[in-house]
Amino acid sequence: MDNLNITYETVWENTKEMLRHSVPDQAYSTWFEPINPIALTDSELILEVPNQFFFEWIESHYTALIERTLWKNLQSEIKVKYTVSPESGQVGLDIAGAPLTPKPKPPQEPPQLNSRYTFSAFIEGANNQFARAAATSVAETPGQPNFNPLVIYGGVGLGKTHLLHAIGNHIAHLRPELKIICATSEKFTLDFISSIQKNNTVEFSRKYRSVDVLLIDDVQFFQNKEQTQEQFFHTFNELYQSGKQIVLTADRYPGEMSGLQDRLLSRFQSGLAVDIQPPDFEVRVAILMAKAEENGLDLPYDIVEFMATHIKNNVRELESTIIRILAHSSLTNREIDMAMVKQAVKDRLGKQFISELTIEDIIGRVSEATNLTEEVLISASRKKPLVEARQVAIYLCREIIGTPLVELGLHFGGRDHTTILHACRTIEKRKKKEPRIKQLVTKLQQELTFPLT
Ligand code: ADP
Ligand code: MG
Repeated sequence: MDNLNITYETVWENTKEMLRHSVPDQAYSTWFEPINPIALTDSELILEVPNQFFFEWIESHYTALIERTLWKNLQSEIKVKYTVSPESGQVGLDIAGAPLTPKPKPPQEPPQLNSRYTFSAFIEGANNQFARAAATSVAETPGQPNFNPLVIYGGVGLGKTHLLHAIGNHIAHLRPELKIICATSEKFTLDFISSIQKNNTVEFSRKYRSVDVLLIDDVQFFQNKEQTQEQFFHTFNELYQSGKQIVLTADRYPGEMSGLQDRLLSRFQSGLAVDIQPPDFEVRVAILMAKAEENGLDLPYDIVEFMATHIKNNVRELESTIIRILAHSSLTNREIDMAMVKQAVKDRLGKQFISELTIEDIIGRVSEATNLTEEVLISASRKKPLVEARQVAIYLCREIIGTPLVELGLHFGGRDHTTILHACRTIEKRKKKEPRIKQLVTKLQQELTFPLT
Protein backbone atom coordinates (compact mmCIF):
# COMPACT_ATOMS: atom_id res chain seq x y z
CA MET A 1 0.00 0.00 0.00
CA ASP A 2 1.33 3.33 -0.98
CA ASN A 3 0.66 5.15 2.24
CA LEU A 4 4.07 5.46 3.77
CA ASN A 5 3.62 9.13 4.34
CA ILE A 6 0.12 8.89 5.62
CA THR A 7 -0.48 8.51 9.30
CA TYR A 8 -3.42 6.66 10.77
CA GLU A 9 -4.67 10.01 12.01
CA THR A 10 -4.92 11.47 8.53
CA VAL A 11 -6.43 8.29 7.16
CA TRP A 12 -9.11 8.41 9.82
CA GLU A 13 -9.68 12.16 9.35
CA ASN A 14 -10.23 11.69 5.63
CA THR A 15 -12.41 8.66 6.11
CA LYS A 16 -14.45 10.44 8.73
CA GLU A 17 -14.95 13.37 6.39
CA MET A 18 -16.36 11.01 3.77
CA LEU A 19 -18.53 9.28 6.35
CA ARG A 20 -19.96 12.61 7.40
CA HIS A 21 -21.66 12.82 4.04
CA SER A 22 -23.03 9.30 4.10
CA VAL A 23 -24.95 9.32 7.37
CA PRO A 24 -27.40 11.73 9.05
CA ASP A 25 -25.76 14.45 11.17
CA GLN A 26 -26.98 13.07 14.45
CA ALA A 27 -25.68 9.60 13.65
CA TYR A 28 -22.38 11.09 12.61
CA SER A 29 -21.90 13.01 15.83
CA THR A 30 -23.11 10.12 17.97
CA TRP A 31 -21.06 7.37 16.38
CA PHE A 32 -18.10 8.77 14.51
CA GLU A 33 -16.93 11.82 16.37
CA PRO A 34 -16.07 9.95 19.60
CA ILE A 35 -13.83 7.45 17.80
CA ASN A 36 -10.04 7.69 18.11
CA PRO A 37 -7.73 6.04 15.62
CA ILE A 38 -5.05 3.97 17.30
CA ALA A 39 -3.00 2.29 14.62
CA LEU A 40 -2.88 1.38 10.96
CA THR A 41 -1.13 -1.56 9.36
CA ASP A 42 -1.35 -2.45 5.69
CA SER A 43 -4.40 -4.57 6.36
CA GLU A 44 -6.03 -3.18 9.48
CA LEU A 45 -7.17 0.04 11.02
CA ILE A 46 -7.60 -0.06 14.79
CA LEU A 47 -10.19 2.27 16.22
CA GLU A 48 -10.75 3.03 19.85
CA VAL A 49 -14.38 3.38 20.95
CA PRO A 50 -15.63 4.77 24.26
CA ASN A 51 -17.39 1.74 25.72
CA GLN A 52 -18.74 -1.75 25.22
CA PHE A 53 -22.19 -0.66 24.16
CA PHE A 54 -20.72 1.67 21.59
CA PHE A 55 -18.55 -1.15 20.30
CA GLU A 56 -21.49 -3.49 19.82
CA TRP A 57 -23.46 -0.86 18.05
CA ILE A 58 -20.80 0.37 15.68
CA GLU A 59 -19.53 -3.08 14.94
CA SER A 60 -22.93 -4.35 13.87
CA HIS A 61 -24.18 -1.24 12.13
CA TYR A 62 -21.25 0.57 10.64
CA THR A 63 -18.28 -1.72 10.05
CA ALA A 64 -19.20 -2.44 6.44
CA LEU A 65 -19.71 1.24 5.72
CA ILE A 66 -16.40 2.20 7.29
CA GLU A 67 -14.56 -0.49 5.34
CA ARG A 68 -16.17 0.57 2.07
CA THR A 69 -15.22 4.15 2.78
CA LEU A 70 -11.65 3.14 3.58
CA TRP A 71 -11.51 1.35 0.26
CA LYS A 72 -12.66 4.47 -1.57
CA ASN A 73 -10.16 6.52 0.36
CA LEU A 74 -7.07 4.30 0.05
CA GLN A 75 -7.86 1.93 -2.78
CA SER A 76 -6.79 -0.93 -0.62
CA GLU A 77 -8.63 -3.45 1.45
CA ILE A 78 -8.40 -2.49 5.09
CA LYS A 79 -10.32 -4.27 7.82
CA VAL A 80 -11.54 -2.36 10.84
CA LYS A 81 -10.85 -3.63 14.34
CA TYR A 82 -12.03 -2.03 17.55
CA THR A 83 -10.73 -1.64 21.03
CA VAL A 84 -12.62 -0.24 23.99
CA SER A 85 -11.09 2.80 25.61
CA PRO A 86 -9.38 2.00 28.90
CA GLU A 87 -11.21 5.01 30.32
CA SER A 88 -14.46 3.13 29.97
CA GLY A 89 -13.50 1.10 33.01
CA GLN A 90 -13.71 -1.98 30.83
CA VAL A 91 -10.05 -2.54 30.42
CA GLY A 92 -8.95 -5.96 29.40
CA LEU A 93 -11.80 -6.46 26.99
CA ASP A 94 -9.56 -7.04 24.05
CA ILE A 95 -12.35 -6.94 21.63
CA ALA A 96 -10.48 -7.13 18.40
CA GLY A 97 -8.89 -10.32 19.60
CA ALA A 98 -5.60 -9.44 17.97
CA PRO A 99 -2.67 -7.83 19.73
CA LEU A 100 -2.87 -4.15 19.09
CA THR A 101 -0.12 -1.91 17.90
CA PRO A 102 0.06 0.58 20.73
CA LYS A 103 -0.32 4.23 20.01
CA PRO A 104 3.05 5.92 20.48
CA LYS A 105 3.19 7.30 24.00
CA PRO A 106 3.46 11.02 24.51
CA PRO A 107 6.64 11.90 26.42
CA GLN A 108 4.91 12.64 29.70
CA GLU A 109 2.41 9.93 30.54
CA PRO A 110 -0.95 11.62 31.07
CA PRO A 111 -2.83 10.84 34.25
CA GLN A 112 -5.42 8.72 32.46
CA LEU A 113 -8.29 10.93 33.39
CA ASN A 114 -11.56 10.95 31.56
CA SER A 115 -12.26 14.63 31.00
CA ARG A 116 -16.01 14.02 30.85
CA TYR A 117 -16.07 13.01 34.48
CA THR A 118 -16.20 16.33 36.30
CA PHE A 119 -17.93 17.54 39.43
CA SER A 120 -20.16 19.80 37.41
CA ALA A 121 -21.40 16.84 35.34
CA PHE A 122 -22.17 14.88 38.49
CA ILE A 123 -25.77 15.21 39.61
CA GLU A 124 -26.12 15.42 43.33
CA GLY A 125 -28.85 13.66 45.27
CA ALA A 126 -29.45 12.29 48.74
CA ASN A 127 -27.88 9.04 47.55
CA ASN A 128 -24.46 10.51 46.77
CA GLN A 129 -24.33 13.83 48.61
CA PHE A 130 -21.84 12.82 51.23
CA ALA A 131 -19.52 11.09 48.77
CA ARG A 132 -19.60 14.08 46.50
CA ALA A 133 -18.88 16.49 49.35
CA ALA A 134 -15.94 14.41 50.54
CA ALA A 135 -14.59 14.12 46.99
CA THR A 136 -14.85 17.87 46.49
CA SER A 137 -13.05 18.54 49.71
CA VAL A 138 -10.22 16.19 48.77
CA ALA A 139 -10.00 17.75 45.32
CA GLU A 140 -9.71 21.19 46.82
CA THR A 141 -7.27 20.33 49.55
CA PRO A 142 -5.52 17.05 48.82
CA GLY A 143 -3.76 15.34 51.71
CA GLN A 144 -5.92 16.37 54.69
CA PRO A 145 -5.33 13.66 57.30
CA ASN A 146 -9.01 13.09 58.08
CA PHE A 147 -9.77 12.43 54.45
CA ASN A 148 -6.81 10.21 53.72
CA PRO A 149 -7.33 7.73 52.27
CA LEU A 150 -10.75 8.55 50.93
CA VAL A 151 -12.60 5.38 50.01
CA ILE A 152 -15.71 5.70 47.86
CA TYR A 153 -17.75 2.53 47.84
CA GLY A 154 -21.05 1.29 46.40
CA GLY A 155 -22.69 -0.88 43.73
CA VAL A 156 -21.98 -0.87 40.00
CA GLY A 157 -22.84 2.06 37.81
CA LEU A 158 -23.47 4.48 40.64
CA GLY A 159 -20.74 7.01 39.90
CA LYS A 160 -17.66 5.86 41.83
CA THR A 161 -15.35 6.05 38.84
CA HIS A 162 -16.93 9.35 37.87
CA LEU A 163 -16.12 10.89 41.27
CA LEU A 164 -12.61 9.45 41.27
CA HIS A 165 -11.83 11.04 37.91
CA ALA A 166 -13.56 14.26 38.96
CA ILE A 167 -11.11 14.53 41.84
CA GLY A 168 -8.23 13.99 39.42
CA ASN A 169 -9.53 16.47 36.87
CA HIS A 170 -10.12 19.10 39.50
CA ILE A 171 -6.65 18.78 40.98
CA ALA A 172 -5.01 18.66 37.55
CA HIS A 173 -6.75 21.91 36.76
CA LEU A 174 -6.08 23.75 40.01
CA ARG A 175 -2.62 22.39 40.74
CA PRO A 176 -1.00 21.40 37.46
CA GLU A 177 2.31 20.95 39.25
CA LEU A 178 1.01 17.97 41.21
CA LYS A 179 1.69 14.55 39.83
CA ILE A 180 -1.42 12.42 39.59
CA ILE A 181 -1.83 8.79 38.73
CA CYS A 182 -5.28 7.42 38.13
CA ALA A 183 -5.45 3.70 37.46
CA THR A 184 -7.71 0.75 37.96
CA SER A 185 -6.47 -1.88 40.34
CA GLU A 186 -6.07 -4.13 37.31
CA LYS A 187 -3.80 -1.61 35.66
CA PHE A 188 -1.73 -1.41 38.82
CA THR A 189 -1.52 -5.22 38.86
CA LEU A 190 -0.58 -5.45 35.21
CA ASP A 191 2.06 -2.77 35.58
CA PHE A 192 3.49 -4.65 38.49
CA ILE A 193 3.53 -7.99 36.70
CA SER A 194 5.09 -6.53 33.62
CA SER A 195 7.75 -4.83 35.73
CA ILE A 196 8.64 -8.24 37.18
CA GLN A 197 8.85 -9.71 33.70
CA LYS A 198 11.03 -6.89 32.51
CA ASN A 199 13.08 -6.96 35.63
CA ASN A 200 12.46 -3.36 36.52
CA THR A 201 10.35 -3.38 39.65
CA VAL A 202 12.45 -0.47 40.83
CA GLU A 203 11.08 1.63 38.04
CA PHE A 204 7.57 0.47 38.92
CA SER A 205 7.99 1.50 42.54
CA ARG A 206 9.45 4.80 41.56
CA LYS A 207 6.55 5.55 39.27
CA TYR A 208 3.82 4.87 41.80
CA ARG A 209 5.62 6.17 44.83
CA SER A 210 6.56 9.51 43.36
CA VAL A 211 3.05 10.82 42.92
CA ASP A 212 1.21 13.48 44.89
CA VAL A 213 -2.19 12.01 44.27
CA LEU A 214 -2.89 8.34 43.74
CA LEU A 215 -6.34 7.39 42.50
CA ILE A 216 -7.05 3.66 42.34
CA ASP A 217 -10.34 2.37 41.01
CA ASP A 218 -12.01 -0.88 42.08
CA VAL A 219 -9.59 -2.11 44.73
CA GLN A 220 -11.70 -5.25 45.23
CA PHE A 221 -9.84 -6.65 42.24
CA PHE A 222 -6.73 -6.85 44.36
CA GLN A 223 -8.32 -9.77 46.11
CA ASN A 224 -6.22 -12.90 46.30
CA LYS A 225 -3.31 -11.25 44.51
CA GLU A 226 -0.87 -11.51 47.37
CA GLN A 227 2.19 -10.05 45.74
CA THR A 228 0.34 -7.14 44.26
CA GLN A 229 -1.24 -6.42 47.63
CA GLU A 230 2.22 -6.44 49.13
CA GLN A 231 3.37 -3.89 46.59
CA PHE A 232 0.31 -1.80 47.06
CA PHE A 233 0.73 -1.87 50.82
CA HIS A 234 4.22 -0.41 50.54
CA THR A 235 3.18 2.15 47.97
CA PHE A 236 0.30 3.13 50.20
CA ASN A 237 2.44 3.51 53.29
CA GLU A 238 5.06 5.55 51.60
CA LEU A 239 2.58 7.97 50.10
CA TYR A 240 0.51 8.12 53.24
CA GLN A 241 3.47 8.90 55.43
CA SER A 242 4.49 11.79 53.26
CA GLY A 243 0.99 13.20 53.33
CA LYS A 244 0.10 12.42 49.74
CA GLN A 245 -3.54 11.99 48.91
CA ILE A 246 -4.87 8.51 48.20
CA VAL A 247 -8.37 7.88 46.90
CA LEU A 248 -9.76 4.41 46.36
CA THR A 249 -13.03 3.03 45.11
CA ALA A 250 -14.50 -0.32 46.00
CA ASP A 251 -17.68 -2.26 45.44
CA ARG A 252 -18.36 -2.56 49.17
CA TYR A 253 -17.34 -1.23 52.56
CA PRO A 254 -13.63 -2.01 53.07
CA GLY A 255 -14.40 -3.90 56.28
CA GLU A 256 -16.52 -6.32 54.29
CA MET A 257 -14.07 -7.14 51.55
CA SER A 258 -12.71 -10.61 51.36
CA GLY A 259 -9.44 -11.86 49.92
CA LEU A 260 -7.58 -8.75 51.04
CA GLN A 261 -4.94 -8.76 53.74
CA ASP A 262 -6.13 -7.41 57.07
CA ARG A 263 -3.35 -4.90 57.30
CA LEU A 264 -4.40 -3.49 53.95
CA LEU A 265 -8.03 -3.33 55.00
CA SER A 266 -7.14 -1.58 58.20
CA ARG A 267 -5.20 1.01 56.17
CA PHE A 268 -8.25 1.48 53.94
CA GLN A 269 -10.36 2.17 57.00
CA SER A 270 -7.98 4.61 58.57
CA GLY A 271 -9.30 7.63 56.65
CA LEU A 272 -12.82 8.27 55.50
CA ALA A 273 -15.12 5.78 53.78
CA VAL A 274 -18.20 7.17 52.05
CA ASP A 275 -20.86 5.25 50.20
CA ILE A 276 -23.02 5.91 47.17
CA GLN A 277 -26.50 4.44 47.16
CA PRO A 278 -28.75 3.81 44.16
CA PRO A 279 -30.46 7.04 43.10
CA ASP A 280 -34.06 7.57 44.11
CA PHE A 281 -36.77 8.58 41.69
CA GLU A 282 -36.15 12.34 41.73
CA VAL A 283 -32.42 11.89 41.24
CA ARG A 284 -33.04 9.51 38.36
CA VAL A 285 -35.23 12.11 36.73
CA ALA A 286 -32.58 14.79 37.24
CA ILE A 287 -29.87 12.53 35.81
CA LEU A 288 -31.96 11.64 32.78
CA MET A 289 -32.72 15.27 32.05
CA ALA A 290 -29.06 16.17 32.33
CA LYS A 291 -27.95 13.29 30.11
CA ALA A 292 -30.62 14.12 27.56
CA GLU A 293 -29.43 17.71 27.46
CA GLU A 294 -25.82 16.61 27.15
CA ASN A 295 -26.82 14.63 24.08
CA GLY A 296 -28.81 17.48 22.58
CA LEU A 297 -32.10 15.72 23.23
CA ASP A 298 -35.26 17.44 24.29
CA LEU A 299 -37.25 14.73 26.07
CA PRO A 300 -40.79 15.41 27.21
CA TYR A 301 -41.31 14.96 30.93
CA ASP A 302 -43.62 11.95 30.67
CA ILE A 303 -40.92 10.06 28.79
CA VAL A 304 -38.29 10.97 31.36
CA GLU A 305 -40.61 9.90 34.11
CA PHE A 306 -41.38 6.64 32.42
CA MET A 307 -37.69 5.80 32.11
CA ALA A 308 -36.93 6.87 35.65
CA THR A 309 -39.70 4.64 36.92
CA HIS A 310 -38.46 1.54 35.18
CA ILE A 311 -34.73 1.82 35.23
CA LYS A 312 -33.89 1.91 38.84
CA ASN A 313 -30.66 0.68 40.14
CA ASN A 314 -28.02 2.05 38.00
CA VAL A 315 -27.00 5.32 36.42
CA ARG A 316 -25.06 3.56 33.70
CA GLU A 317 -28.28 1.87 32.55
CA LEU A 318 -30.08 5.19 32.46
CA GLU A 319 -27.33 6.59 30.34
CA SER A 320 -27.17 3.74 27.89
CA THR A 321 -30.93 3.74 27.46
CA ILE A 322 -30.70 7.38 26.40
CA ILE A 323 -27.98 6.52 23.90
CA ARG A 324 -30.02 3.64 22.58
CA ILE A 325 -33.05 5.85 22.05
CA LEU A 326 -30.93 8.49 20.41
CA ALA A 327 -29.36 5.91 18.14
CA HIS A 328 -32.68 4.43 17.26
CA SER A 329 -34.18 7.76 16.44
CA SER A 330 -31.25 8.83 14.31
CA LEU A 331 -31.05 5.55 12.44
CA THR A 332 -34.73 5.29 11.69
CA ASN A 333 -35.13 9.00 11.20
CA ARG A 334 -38.06 9.02 13.60
CA GLU A 335 -38.92 11.51 16.29
CA ILE A 336 -38.53 10.13 19.78
CA ASP A 337 -41.91 9.17 21.17
CA MET A 338 -43.31 7.11 24.02
CA ALA A 339 -43.66 3.98 21.87
CA MET A 340 -39.98 4.07 20.97
CA VAL A 341 -38.98 4.64 24.57
CA LYS A 342 -41.17 1.82 25.80
CA GLN A 343 -39.53 -0.46 23.28
CA ALA A 344 -36.04 0.60 24.36
CA VAL A 345 -36.88 0.05 28.02
CA LYS A 346 -38.43 -3.29 27.19
CA ASP A 347 -35.29 -4.35 25.28
CA ARG A 348 -33.25 -3.39 28.26
CA LEU A 349 -35.30 -5.03 30.95
CA GLY A 350 -36.61 -8.02 29.02
CA LYS A 351 -39.07 -10.12 30.96
CA GLN A 352 -39.21 -7.85 33.96
CA PHE A 353 -41.11 -5.38 31.87
CA ILE A 354 -44.79 -6.08 31.46
CA SER A 355 -46.56 -3.52 29.37
CA GLU A 356 -49.74 -5.37 28.53
CA LEU A 357 -51.35 -4.84 31.91
CA THR A 358 -53.65 -1.90 32.42
CA ILE A 359 -54.39 0.17 35.50
CA GLU A 360 -57.87 -1.35 35.49
CA ASP A 361 -56.40 -4.87 35.61
CA ILE A 362 -54.40 -3.93 38.67
CA ILE A 363 -57.28 -2.20 40.43
CA GLY A 364 -59.43 -5.25 39.63
CA ARG A 365 -56.92 -7.64 41.11
CA VAL A 366 -56.41 -5.56 44.26
CA SER A 367 -60.16 -5.34 44.66
CA GLU A 368 -60.48 -9.14 44.51
CA ALA A 369 -57.66 -9.67 46.96
CA THR A 370 -58.97 -7.17 49.51
CA ASN A 371 -62.72 -7.64 49.08
CA LEU A 372 -63.14 -3.93 48.45
CA THR A 373 -65.00 -2.76 45.38
CA GLU A 374 -63.20 -1.02 42.55
CA GLU A 375 -65.39 2.04 43.13
CA VAL A 376 -64.31 2.52 46.72
CA LEU A 377 -60.68 1.94 45.75
CA ILE A 378 -60.74 5.02 43.58
CA SER A 379 -63.15 6.97 45.79
CA ALA A 380 -62.32 9.84 48.14
CA SER A 381 -62.88 7.80 51.30
CA ARG A 382 -60.08 7.94 53.88
CA LYS A 383 -61.04 4.87 55.90
CA LYS A 384 -57.96 3.05 57.04
CA PRO A 385 -58.10 -0.39 55.32
CA LEU A 386 -59.26 1.37 52.21
CA VAL A 387 -56.41 3.82 52.14
CA GLU A 388 -54.01 0.95 52.50
CA ALA A 389 -55.53 -1.02 49.63
CA ARG A 390 -55.60 2.06 47.46
CA GLN A 391 -51.97 2.79 48.19
CA VAL A 392 -51.04 -0.78 47.34
CA ALA A 393 -52.87 -0.49 44.03
CA ILE A 394 -51.12 2.78 43.25
CA TYR A 395 -47.78 1.33 44.19
CA LEU A 396 -48.32 -1.67 41.93
CA CYS A 397 -49.31 0.53 39.00
CA ARG A 398 -46.06 2.46 39.38
CA GLU A 399 -43.95 -0.62 39.83
CA ILE A 400 -45.44 -2.78 37.14
CA ILE A 401 -46.63 -0.42 34.44
CA GLY A 402 -44.75 2.69 35.38
CA THR A 403 -47.76 4.92 34.85
CA PRO A 404 -46.80 8.59 35.19
CA LEU A 405 -47.80 10.14 38.52
CA VAL A 406 -50.18 12.65 37.05
CA GLU A 407 -51.97 10.04 35.00
CA LEU A 408 -52.28 7.75 38.02
CA GLY A 409 -53.74 10.63 40.00
CA LEU A 410 -56.46 10.99 37.40
CA HIS A 411 -57.27 7.28 37.51
CA PHE A 412 -57.47 7.33 41.28
CA GLY A 413 -60.23 9.86 41.71
CA GLY A 414 -58.41 13.02 40.60
CA ARG A 415 -55.68 13.01 43.23
CA ASP A 416 -52.64 15.14 42.62
CA HIS A 417 -49.23 13.74 41.86
CA THR A 418 -47.79 14.40 45.32
CA THR A 419 -50.48 12.21 46.86
CA ILE A 420 -49.58 9.47 44.41
CA LEU A 421 -45.89 9.81 45.20
CA HIS A 422 -46.70 9.74 48.90
CA ALA A 423 -48.68 6.51 48.42
CA CYS A 424 -45.75 4.85 46.66
CA ARG A 425 -43.32 5.90 49.34
CA THR A 426 -45.58 4.79 52.15
CA ILE A 427 -45.89 1.30 50.71
CA GLU A 428 -42.18 1.20 49.95
CA LYS A 429 -41.44 1.96 53.60
CA ARG A 430 -44.10 -0.30 55.09
CA LYS A 431 -42.89 -3.17 52.90
CA LYS A 432 -39.57 -2.96 54.67
CA LYS A 433 -41.05 -2.90 58.14
CA GLU A 434 -44.25 -4.92 57.98
CA PRO A 435 -44.11 -8.52 56.81
CA ARG A 436 -47.85 -8.51 56.15
CA ILE A 437 -47.59 -5.66 53.64
CA LYS A 438 -44.52 -7.16 52.07
CA GLN A 439 -46.29 -10.45 51.59
CA LEU A 440 -49.42 -8.86 50.14
CA VAL A 441 -47.51 -6.70 47.70
CA THR A 442 -45.15 -9.45 46.60
CA LYS A 443 -47.98 -11.89 46.09
CA LEU A 444 -50.02 -9.46 44.02
CA GLN A 445 -47.01 -8.41 42.04
CA GLN A 446 -46.17 -11.99 41.19
CA GLU A 447 -49.72 -12.85 40.24
CA LEU A 448 -49.96 -9.82 38.04
CA THR A 449 -46.67 -10.25 36.28
CA PHE A 450 -46.88 -14.01 35.84
CA PRO A 451 -50.58 -14.60 35.47
CA LEU A 452 -51.65 -18.20 35.99
CA THR A 453 -53.26 -19.44 32.82
P1 ADP B 1 -19.21 2.98 38.97
O1 ADP B 1 -17.77 3.29 38.85
O2 ADP B 1 -19.78 3.26 40.31
O3 ADP B 1 -19.57 1.61 38.48
P2 ADP B 1 -19.45 5.06 36.99
O4 ADP B 1 -18.75 6.15 37.70
O5 ADP B 1 -18.70 4.37 35.90
O6 ADP B 1 -20.01 3.97 38.02
O7 ADP B 1 -20.83 5.63 36.45
C1 ADP B 1 -21.54 5.05 35.37
C2 ADP B 1 -22.03 6.13 34.44
O8 ADP B 1 -23.05 6.87 35.09
C3 ADP B 1 -20.95 7.12 34.07
O9 ADP B 1 -21.08 7.46 32.73
C4 ADP B 1 -21.21 8.31 34.96
O10 ADP B 1 -20.83 9.52 34.34
C5 ADP B 1 -22.70 8.25 35.15
N1 ADP B 1 -23.10 8.74 36.47
C6 ADP B 1 -23.10 8.06 37.64
N2 ADP B 1 -23.55 8.81 38.64
C7 ADP B 1 -23.86 10.02 38.11
C8 ADP B 1 -24.37 11.24 38.65
N3 ADP B 1 -24.69 11.36 39.95
N4 ADP B 1 -24.55 12.26 37.81
C9 ADP B 1 -24.25 12.15 36.50
N5 ADP B 1 -23.76 11.04 35.94
C10 ADP B 1 -23.57 9.98 36.72
MG1 MG C 1 -16.26 2.08 38.16
